[in-house]
Amino acid sequence: MKIQDIEAIKLLLATPKKIAIIPHRGPDGDAMGSTLGLYHFLVKNNHQPTVITPNDFPGFLAWMPGSETVKVFEKDIENCTRILEEAELIFTLDFNALHRTGEMEHTLARLTAPFIMIDHHEKPHDYAAYTYSDTSFGSTCEMIYNFILFLNQKEDIDKTIATCIYTGILTDSGSFRFPKTTGNTHRIVAELIDLGAENTEIPVLLFDNSSFSRLQLLGQALQNMKLFEQHKTSYTSLTQEELDSFNYVKGDTEGIVNYGLSIKGIIFTAIFIENKEEGIIKISFRSQGGFDVNQFARDHFNGGGHSNAAGGRSETSMEETVKKFEDLVTKLDI
Ligand code: 5GP
Ligand code: MN
Repeated sequence: MKIQDIEAIKLLLATPKKIAIIPHRGPDGDAMGSTLGLYHFLVKNNHQPTVITPNDFPGFLAWMPGSETVKVFEKDIENCTRILEEAELIFTLDFNALHRTGEMEHTLARLTAPFIMIDHHEKPHDYAAYTYSDTSFGSTCEMIYNFILFLNQKEDIDKTIATCIYTGILTDSGSFRFPKTTGNTHRIVAELIDLGAENTEIPVLLFDNSSFSRLQLLGQALQNMKLFEQHKTSYTSLTQEELDSFNYVKGDTEGIVNYGLSIKGIIFTAIFIENKEEGIIKISFRSQGGFDVNQFARDHFNGGGHSNAAGGRSETSMEETVKKFEDLVTKLDI
């Protein structure tokens, strides 16, 4: 981050302010960890922050400290719009373009308060007065840790803040496995543990709190998986009917996409999830090594993300969407 930006932000934060903190639509562990970590830091510094998520966050993150204070835009548009209009400063975390907030985009776009973007996605849009964007980081949470250091306020990181930051680093790094996990990531994580982040309890809260029906839904997704061995690709899908038959709740499909990469020789995978209510197929892409799924998602499925983890959407039927994917895959030279 530029020195002059840090100095300007220090000045902005020198007096108590009403502050809105926004993650992307469909918030994940990193989105919730970074927004709530920053929330607790700002409360500690006498500000009045509010985290506003575009839509609801999944139940497996509901244990996170401060999650009970989170406002959901979609559920309470009037109140959230008022909070946004009254905000003197707006942080947007873990996303790079206002359209990633869905319906909230239009409200955000007409606000006059300065924006601060902290994010690790490629090709950030130029809407913020201050942009801290760096794709070398595996998570926005790691950047929040650095941001607090830039402000010379490391001593403010307590157990609560450490817990939030730890959660986002853990989830976005695939439990410290993905390529952007560095020695420095581990040094930060070590400090967070020393500060009180419960490193054995947090993974249990996140990953070992599953319902039986969620496990059966995973079974269905594994049954549905298709292989294109010649093209080092796999994919699976879940229709609305299948989701309903396993009592799907938000968050149940989180992480399922990764199983497609666990097959020897497979370096590209996708999951297609039908959402009848929104009339779309939500897609997640994952890759190992040099195949750039961010570019693939941008080129073909109206999406984006990172080079090894991206998402997109399709407004055609499941059959047509999957057919389009299969046609693309059989032309791929990977
Ligand atoms: P996931 O597959 O876990 O939903 O998302 C993987 C990555 O891709 C995340 O960094 C997420 O922010 C990004 N992503 C997911 N869906 C979309 C999308 O529709 N558009 C864009 N631009 N990025 C997405
Ligand atoms: Mn992230």
